[in-house]
Amino acid sequence: MTVSETPPGESSPSAPAETSGFGSPMRRARISTAAISDNVRELRRRIPDTTIIAVVKANAYGHGAVESARAALDGGATWLGVADLCEALELREAGIQEPVLFWIHAPGTDFGVAIERGIDVGVNSRAQLDAVTEAARRVGSPAIVQLKCDSGLSRNGIPTAERAEVFARARAYETEGLLRVRGVFSHLSNASEADDRAAVELFMDILAEARAAGLTPELTHIAASAAALSYPGLPVNAVRLGLLLYGLSPLPGQTSADLGLRPAMRLEGTVLHVRRLPAGTGLSYDYTYHTAAETTVVLVGLGYADGIPRAASSVAPVSINGRTYRVSGRVAMDQFIVDVGDDTVQVGDTAVLWGDPADGIPSVEEFASACGTINYEMVTRVGPRVTRVYAS
Ligand SMILES: *Cc1c(COP(=O)(O)O)cnc(C)c1O
Repeated sequence: MTVSETPPGESSPSAPAETSGFGSPMRRARISTAAISDNVRELRRRIPDTTIIAVVKANAYGHGAVESARAALDGGATWLGVADLCEALELREAGIQEPVLFWIHAPGTDFGVAIERGIDVGVNSRAQLDAVTEAARRVGSPAIVQLKCDSGLSRNGIPTAERAEVFARARAYETEGLLRVRGVFSHLSNASEADDRAAVELFMDILAEARAAGLTPELTHIAASAAALSYPGLPVNAVRLGLLLYGLSPLPGQTSADLGLRPAMRLEGTVLHVRRLPAGTGLSYDYTYHTAAETTVVLVGLGYADGIPRAASSVAPVSINGRTYRVSGRVAMDQFIVDVGDDTVQVGDTAVLWGDPADGIPSVEEFASACGTINYEMVTRVGPRVTRVYAS
C-alpha cells in the first residue's frame, strides 16, 4: 500500500510523502531516504576503494527493506546483504537486480530459488555446501557462494575443524561446474581491539588456505559498521555496513554527527488525549508514577507492541512541541502517558520519541540508553503497526 498523507498536527507538508505498510497514521516512522543515500556517500569517502555491502536485514533495521536498499544503492553501495532467503527474495520481488548475499539458513532451505534468482548464498557448514551444490545440480546452473568462516565469534560460520574439507569440496564442485566461490568472509566479536586483531590475523590465514586450496574469491570481508570505522585499511576489499547506513553510531562516545552521518528515522506518535489531573494521581498500570502536583498529562498511541520497550517506563525522553519530557508510568501494549506539567499540548500534536538530535529531539542513543539497550535494538523493534512515511 502506498498512499499520501498529511500527518495530524501539521499543516500540509511541502511535498506529499510516500508511505507504506498497514499501520495507523497515529504512529509514524518518518524515514529520510536522502539521509541513507548521503550516509552511504559519506561512508564511501571514509572507507575508499572498498565495496560496500549495504545490510538491509530485519526490514533494514526497521527502516523498510526495499526503500532503504534503493536509497543505499543510490548512494553508491553496490551489494546488498540480508540474513535469510525470504529477505533476499523480497528485494528481488521489488525488482532490485543488484547483487544480494544472505547467510542464515533454516534446515531444508530451497537454495534452488536463490540460484535461479541470482542470489549469493553465504555457506556456514559442510552440510550447507552440499545442500547448495545439490540444488545447483537439480536446477542445472551453478550456485554462487561466499564461504563464511568462523574466526572466533563461535556463532554462524564454518567451524575451524570443517574448514579444510569445505575448501577442498568447494574446489572440487567448482571443477565440476556446480559452484563458484565468489567470496570468503567472517565476522568480528567487537570484544576488544586485541580480539578483533587476532580474528583479522586468523582471517588472513584462512584466505591463504582458501587460495592454497585453489579457490579464487574476488570478495573478502570481515568488518561490519564498528570495525569498518575503527580499523581503517584492513587487508580486505569489502565491508558489510548496517547501522551506519541508517545514520546511527556503533561507537560508544561518538555521535552520528561526529561520524558525519544523519539519523534516517524519526519516530512519532500523535497526542490522542489531553487531561488535567490533581496531585497524587497514579498513572498507568501499577501506578508506578504519581503526579507531583496538579498537572496536564497526554496520551500517545505507541506501546510495546510497536517496539517501545517496557523498560522505557518513566525514564525515556519524549519531545513534544520542542520540549523534552519523560514517559510517565508504565508503557502499555498500545499507549503511554506523558506528564507535561503546565505546558500547553493539544490533541493532534506530535510526540517525537527519537530522530536527528540536530532537530532538537532525542537521539536514538539517548532513548536506548534510558531503556538500558542499544540503538540497534530500538530501530529494529519498530513494529509493523507503525506507518513508515518516506521522504527524500
Ligand atoms: C547484521 C550483520 C552485519 C551488519 O552489522 P552492523 O554492525 O549493523 O554494520 C554485518 N555482518 C553480519 C554477518 C551481520 O549479521
